Amino acid sequence: MPPIPGSGLAKGLAVTLRTMTRKTVTAQYPDVQPELPPRTRGVIGLFEENCTVCMLCARECPDWCIYIDSHKETVPPAAPGGRERSRNVLDRFAIDFSLCMYCGICIEVCPFDALFWSPEFEYAETDIHELTHERDKLREWMWTVPEPPALDPHAEEPKEIAAARKAVEKAAAQAAAEAQAAAQAQAQGEAQEDQQ
Ligand code: SF4
Ligand code: SF4
Repeated sequence: MPPIPGSGLAKGLAVTLRTMTRKTVTAQYPDVQPELPPRTRGVIGLFEENCTVCMLCARECPDWCIYIDSHKETVPPAAPGGRERSRNVLDRFAIDFSLCMYCGICIEVCPFDALFWSPEFEYAETDIHELTHERDKLREWMWTVPEPPALDPHAEEPKEIAAARKAVEKAAAQAAAEAQAAAQAQAQGEAQEDQQ
């Protein structure tokens, strides 16, 4: 049977009308920034202070795209008679994001919490060499790492926070004791002056 004249147009208009009433799913990027989930794998940030140059991340990276250079430094003994220690000092830490496949293995294996995912993704370059991010740039990404989710109300306090809290309490107690001792010494001095 030949098609009714105008039926195609009617079908097209029906589709247009139907989709007009539906919620749009098109992202208007870059005018509107996307709302990304907190665990988005955008770029990797380096918290250099935590890195002990153990090389585990570079060894486990399937793409061999983490470049680390370091040298050893001798640290004098903490107390007289103690032994000198040697420690690794980081000279270079770079990730080549043109090779990285965003598997997250480096972040998983780092035993010292020095690597973190950031949801930032706007770092496309016209020169592929620019996709090798050196330590300064990797550090800058740390500012874009989202806060970790809150702990469960009855969860055990993390060791680092417990240690920091105890250190603050100890310093506060020491400062209070010193202030009290100074006040007592001042009061004694004034008493002696009055007796004279
Ligand atoms: S995310 Fe995977 S590929 Fe990328 S640097 Fe880390 S281990 Fe290598
Ligand atoms: S695994 Fe962690 S601590 Fe070890 S070199 Fe890599 S970033 Fe540094």
